[in-house]
Amino acid sequence: MSIPTKERMVMFTLNNITKNEELNYLVTSLPCPACKSMETIEITPDKLYAYNQGAMAQDVLSGYDAGTRERFISGMCNDCFCTMNNFAMFDDE
Ligand SMILES: [Zn+2]
Repeated sequence: MSIPTKERMVMFTLNNITKNEELNYLVTSLPCPACKSMETIEITPDKLYAYNQGAMAQDVLSGYDAGTRERFISGMCNDCFCTMNNFAMFDDE
């Protein structure tokens, strides 16, 4: 039995932070290193505050799935991430 390493401390970046009309914030991910696409999501002010306090991606982006969080950590989009996984990133054994 092994413990998943998914919950490690990770650096992540919120770009183009802008307030929207619902008083939440729109934040844009890093561009995907492979295809350059970006993703914009909405977060609440308390999440932005947590981000500024150094909170982890799992906390700040808790409402989003791992694929979306990955976009703010490495920028890698789901499509490219799946492609990459066919070649490398298997470090389990
Ligand atoms: Zn991509």
